Amino acid sequence: MREAVRQHQVVPYYQPVVSLNTETAVGVEALARWTLPTSRIIGPDHFIPAAESGGFIGDLFFQILRQMCADVVKWDPSIRVAVNVSPNQFRDPFLANKILSVLDGTGLSAERLEIEVTEGNPLADWTRTARTINSLKAEGVRFALDDFGTGYANLGQLNGLPFDNVKIDRSFVTTLMERRESRTIVKSIISLCRDLEKTSIAEGVETGAQAEWLHDNGCDLAQGHHFSYPLPADAVDELFRVGDESVYGLA
Ligand code: C2E
Ligand code: MG
Ligand code: MG
Ligand code: MG
Repeated sequence: MREAVRQHQVVPYYQPVVSLNTETAVGVEALARWTLPTSRIIGPDHFIPAAESGGFIGDLFFQILRQMCADVVKWDPSIRVAVNVSPNQFRDPFLANKILSVLDGTGLSAERLEIEVTEGNPLADWTRTARTINSLKAEGVRFALDDFGTGYANLGQLNGLPFDNVKIDRSFVTTLMERRESRTIVKSIISLCRDLEKTSIAEGVETGAQAEWLHDNGCDLAQGHHFSYPLPADAVDELFRVGDESVYGLA
């Protein structure tokens, strides 16, 4: 796995993030894929844990970030890009500087970058994490709290750290039409976001009915198979070619 990272076999795929108001893409989320020489593609759930326990999650992240910046600068400047950071990476006191130097080197403006953070446990080093987040925010980078409503992502984090966006966990969206509890929870997350002036993003939208319900209930943005699967860079090149805005509508 470590060798695969070194050999650039781990690449970003991109899933469009869509405005529920306009049904056009406003950004993408970069999702790591391990592309084997045999053309087999392996998803991150199968290698992120190994990268974390093996101590090379930082190397993997910077491979993804560099490739991502190189891809994104080719796309329309209105398109933002989100990348997932493992909570362990906040232990690195130079994380912010390293990210900013990749932006510098590739020419991606900080305003187009968004960093998604999951889980609260390793975010326990609150002071260092807050310092890292604040110094990146000062440059214009935005932050999202990922998988909100499950695991460690909790109200305390929303209170203590300056997140711009909240991503509503897929588990609530998947059961939206079947379960009244899911609808109640999602409604309250959306209203929490509105009151705290954060953008709400629904993950894992797979049907038109889910998209419509989310729009009717005031959710801002969404991503999911209903709009688009995660796509390789060359497919996104087609989608977001500079000056070709007619193709941004995905639904
Ligand atoms: P995540 O950040 O919450 O990403 C969303 C996951 O939901 C992605 O899974 C995406 O492919 C999947 N998804 C999107 N729309 C739908 C849908 O409509 N239905 C269903 N069933 N799934 C959908 P993926 O790509 O397998 O990634 C899994 C997780 O791995 C991510 O969850 C993220 O936490 C982590 N991950 C991915 N790339 C990276 C990375 O570069 N670094 C780190 N540290 N973690 C990463
Ligand atoms: Mg994410
Ligand atoms: Mg998520
Ligand atoms: Mg997830």
